[in-house]
Amino acid sequence: MDSTPAGDPAEELELLARQLRLHLQRHAALGAWAAPGSPMPRPVEVVEPPAAPEPGRLTLAQIREEVGECTRCKLHATRRTIVFGVGAEDAPLMFIGEAPGEQEDRRGEPFVGPAGELLDKMIEAMGWTREHVYIANILMCRPPGNRNPQPDEVAKCTPFLEAKIRAIAPRLIVTLGRPATNYVLGTDAPISALRGRFHERYGRRVMPTFHPAYLLRDPDKKREAWQDLKQVIAELERLGIQPPRVPRS
Ligand code: URA
Repeated sequence: MDSTPAGDPAEELELLARQLRLHLQRHAALGAWAAPGSPMPRPVEVVEPPAAPEPGRLTLAQIREEVGECTRCKLHATRRTIVFGVGAEDAPLMFIGEAPGEQEDRRGEPFVGPAGELLDKMIEAMGWTREHVYIANILMCRPPGNRNPQPDEVAKCTPFLEAKIRAIAPRLIVTLGRPATNYVLGTDAPISALRGRFHERYGRRVMPTFHPAYLLRDPDKKREAWQDLKQVIAELERLGIQPPRVPRS
C-alpha cells in the first residue's frame, strides 16, 4: 500500500478507508476471509479467462520488423520517426489514439507532448502507469500539420494496429477521441454519442472517451472522461485485474 503523507486528518482517514476497502476486495477476490466479525460475501461472478492466444499471432518485435522503414503511404515522405507504440506486451489495458503529433514524431513515442502529459495523469489516476499499459495510435506516422488521418493512410497502417491488438490481447481497450473510436468500432458518429459505455470489438470490451487534446481545450469535459475511466477501473476489477497502485476514487 502507498504511504500517506501527513496532512489533513480527514483526508488521510478517507484515503486509508479507500485503501482498506480495496485491500479487502482483493482478499475477497482471492477467496480469503475479509475481516474478523464481518464476513464479506465471496464474489459470485465467474472471472472470465483471458482470450485464448490466436494462432499465427506475431510478437510486437515481429510486427515492428514487418513495419520496417515503412513507405506504404505518403506520410513516410514527411515523418521523422515511425511511432510504433509503447508499453507492456501483456498489458491488460490498451489506449488507442489518433496519430503522432510533432513531439511524438521527434521522439518516436506516442503521447509525449501536452496531450500525452494529460494522458499520463489519467492513466496514473486509474492506478496504472505508461509502462504497465500499452499505448498506440491508428497511424504510426505524423500527418503534416497534424491534419486528420486520410482513408488511404488508415487503410495501410491499421493492419499493424490490429496485429498489435492480437499480440497484446488486452482485456479492455480505451479509444481516445473520434477518429480512433470510429475506426475501432467501425462507426461514424461523434464521440459524445459513443463514450460512456462499453462496446464490443475484436472480442474485447472497448470504452471510448474524449481525446486528451480535446480535454486540454475544454477542461470541463474532464469530469465525463473520468466517469468513463472509472467504468474501466471497475470492469478491470470485476475481471480480477488489479492496477499496480490504488486508483483515485
Ligand atoms: N495525439 C494522438 O492521438 N496520439 C499521439 O501520440 C499524440 C497526440
